[in-house]
Amino acid sequence: MFSKNFIFTLLLSLFVLGACNSGGSDDVPQQSQPAETESEATASIITTTFVLEDFIQTIGGENVEVTNLVPSGGDAHSFEPTAQQMIEIAEADAFVYNGAGFEGFVESVLNSLQGEGILTLEATTGISLRQGNEDEHGDETADEHEDEHGEEATDQEHVEEEHAHEDADPHAWLDPVFALQYAENIYELLLELYPEYENEFTSNYTDLKDALETLHNEFEEMVSTADRDQFIVSHAGYGYWEDRYGLEQIAISGLSPTNEPSQRQVQEVIELGESLYMDHLYVEQNFTPQVAEMIANEIGAEVLYLHNLEVRTDEDIETGANYLSLMRGNIESLKQGLNE
Ligand SMILES: [Zn+2]
Repeated sequence: MFSKNFIFTLLLSLFVLGACNSGGSDDVPQQSQPAETESEATASIITTTFVLEDFIQTIGGENVEVTNLVPSGGDAHSFEPTAQQMIEIAEADAFVYNGAGFEGFVESVLNSLQGEGILTLEATTGISLRQGNEDEHGDETADEHEDEHGEEATDQEHVEEEHAHEDADPHAWLDPVFALQYAENIYELLLELYPEYENEFTSNYTDLKDALETLHNEFEEMVSTADRDQFIVSHAGYGYWEDRYGLEQIAISGLSPTNEPSQRQVQEVIELGESLYMDHLYVEQNFTPQVAEMIANEIGAEVLYLHNLEVRTDEDIETGANYLSLMRGNIESLKQGLNE
């Protein structure tokens, strides 16, 4: 699994450490596996997002160990791994990330993993990503803008340049139908890594697939009986619900919660919220921006919660919350916010 260079560097550093530690024993482990550093035993698969951790564990079952780099309650968008975590990634069997620009640090991790023989998976592979629009709250303009060009996308660079103000929306897992693609990608990775557990993986994957299809039906049902189809939310994580279910988010900050809204944008949300008589406003499980509270006060809206599935809170961990239970919580919360 490790390149010669990597093992050589590791052994060299162990040797140096050993030499400094004069009282230490001279025993060197005989196995080919490098000795553990002071960290915990290495996990088999490392990931960056709660939904990925959950799907890997659900399909992998007892035979797979998964570690999420981002601590509970953290922000997966702006997270940076420590040097120790970089070593843990290099020692794992696989590194699974969302991609689509979600993890700002991922390029440097992939570069440093080159030649280490570690499997990597971009979980959004095969999903047609929507374009998030950082600048506008409405998105008619985004659609028209794309149509205007009308040319074949022959020159990738040219297209990227033209749409420099738009970014791919990485939050595809919040759409249960796209979540099926995540599950399939993860299932295939696990088969490649540990073919000996194929029967168990297949059975778990089939169960998850069924559950996601049921969840999709529940989502459709909730939307079909809702009075409203618009909601105000603190960060623009829920665009995929617009494409799939026709629910329009009015987001206070951009695709990443650390993209602060301008004064003008805040004013727009307040005016929109007032003109639409919005009586609820959503914040998220891991982050309640002050500006969201201020807007809620301004328009007299009750604050409700949505779960972005990016990270769990400590409470989620205590209650054993998973993708399915948290998404059902979102459906319940939307029932409340979208009905008079
Ligand atoms: Zn997000």
